[in-house]
Amino acid sequence: MLAELISPWFRAQARDLPWRRPETTPWGVLVSEFMLQQTPVARVEPVWRDWMDRWPAPSALAAAPRADVLRAWGKLGYPRRAIRLHDAAAAIAERHDDTVPSDVDSLEALPGIGSYTARAVAAFGYGLRAPVVDTNVRRVVARAVHGQGDAGPARTRADLADVDALLPARDTEAAVVSAGLMELGALVCTARSPRCADCPVAHACAWVAAGRPAYDGPRRPVQGFAGTDRQVRGKLMDVLRGAPGPVERSALDAVWSDAGQRDRCLHSLLVDGLAEQTDDGRFALPA
Ligand code: SF4
Repeated sequence: MLAELISPWFRAQARDLPWRRPETTPWGVLVSEFMLQQTPVARVEPVWRDWMDRWPAPSALAAAPRADVLRAWGKLGYPRRAIRLHDAAAAIAERHDDTVPSDVDSLEALPGIGSYTARAVAAFGYGLRAPVVDTNVRRVVARAVHGQGDAGPARTRADLADVDALLPARDTEAAVVSAGLMELGALVCTARSPRCADCPVAHACAWVAAGRPAYDGPRRPVQGFAGTDRQVRGKLMDVLRGAPGPVERSALDAVWSDAGQRDRCLHSLLVDGLAEQTDDGRFALPA
């Protein structure tokens, strides 16, 4: 029932995003999924376009120096994703003849690709039936199916089973419904102010039928940003990305006053392979 309502809505209302165009390769879809994991669409779009112009195939990215990859990642945040994508590209080039695999098991065997990304690439890159579960989808299911105002903490297997039960049997139709569920959660069934009056599933929604009761279950932890190690790591990476070569320690010291936190963050960048120390004691993006 929900699938029959979501599918025509998505076909009529979906945003025209470059990675949804028919000419986009599964590689383009995979790159978009890495970038979209923790970054909004508007910030991803220009970086994705540059990235695809520069590295249209996995082997092209795999051949690029790691420093170039981190610079091209720009300010998308969570730069470990760029390293993982670089590693995945090398594995696809070597093990899969430069073609992104289509089955979920092979995708999950690649470095840096988890349950969500594997299923998203199978569904959106290859048009296959694969339950794709992100935060937005979990919220739509919690409301429309279970009549709860919020999804609460993730329950991986149960979440996959919930979404699997909603998908039509045919691959192409299931892939449209997967994309539609994500779009509905992103645009209409939003966390703070769901627009039920504009929602294609409103008359079949269990939460609406129950009178939109307040959510009183367990909550997911909310992450702040200001003052966190993530913010400090971002500032240090900005310095390394913006410099044409290695920088002195003093250039990094200037961006954050708390020496203990700064040292911890710099150390974690070195451990994560996002930065390197040169023989003369300066710091740079990895070669
Ligand atoms: S009717 Fe409202 S709560 Fe139900 S799925 Fe649509 S937007 Fe979400």
